[in-house]
Amino acid sequence: MTKKSLITANLIAPCGMNCAICIGYLRDKNKCDGCRNSYENKPEACRKCIIIRCDNLKKTKSKFCSEKCEKFPCTRLKNLDKRYRTKYNMSMIENLKNIEKLGIRKFVKNEKIRWACLNCGGIICVHRGYCMSCGINK
Ligand SMILES: [Zn+2]
Repeated sequence: MTKKSLITANLIAPCGMNCAICIGYLRDKNKCDGCRNSYENKPEACRKCIIIRCDNLKKTKSKFCSEKCEKFPCTRLKNLDKRYRTKYNMSMIENLKNIEKLGIRKFVKNEKIRWACLNCGGIICVHRGYCMSCGINK
């Protein structure tokens, strides 16, 4: 895996997940283009996720759960967040709070630094815990 991927605002899902650091996005085969873009190559867990299709997001025309939803953070977001905090040491809710606080541009800028491989500049995969370009641990 040699190609470099980039973190962009369009790759930040409504739940706060950064799709650019997901194994589904970083893998070479059946590459997912992120929650907001592809459906076909979505990883199984993402296919089942209903946050992207949430009525409240549509109704309020929000880009992120944290924007206008009165239920934020709802139970399903909290469950997802808990799973990621426990298994992958990453929090969607914390991401959303940072997006609120800093704005999406600054958030993306910080994410680029946070997940950058110090060895090659590639992206550290949140699921694997290592750089998908050179294989080196964070
Ligand atoms: Zn690397």
